[in-house]
Amino acid sequence: MNTLDKTNLIRKKILSWGDENIHDLPWRENQTPYSVLVSEFMLHRTNSKQVVPIYNSFINAYPTLKTFSKEKNDRYILDISGEARRRKEIQAAIANTMDPNYPRQYYYSLIDLAHTICKPHKPNCEVCPLQISCIFHGFNYRS
Ligand code: SF4
Repeated sequence: MNTLDKTNLIRKKILSWGDENIHDLPWRENQTPYSVLVSEFMLHRTNSKQVVPIYNSFINAYPTLKTFSKEKNDRYILDISGEARRRKEIQAAIANTMDPNYPRQYYYSLIDLAHTICKPHKPNCEVCPLQISCIFHGFNYRS
């Protein structure tokens, strides 16, 4: 199997897994650049389940960037440069396999797969759709 075939197989497996497992999250509906920005900041260090109520509360209080910009106190200090750096790293990492036909679905599938199955310290390789293609399948992460 050549590299293109392998890439297409991985894309297909990830998209197929996403069809059944992708998470229904508020920032994935009615997306605007503002809603994406808010969710990206909140998801930086917190998992999506914990972010949902905070995100909903924040968006209810500040539904647009204009309403947020009128906030008088400095409760919210946003690290724009740090976020931009992180986004660039993520984009570089997935650019090689991104499915050009379904980029959003592919991205969400990949993110959710990483959060639910391919966790950094304890991946659940036995239920992973990529186990046949993955060189880390079965690797002992505790060693
Ligand atoms: S097989 Fe294991 S290590 Fe490889 S992508 Fe799947 S969960 Fe991650």
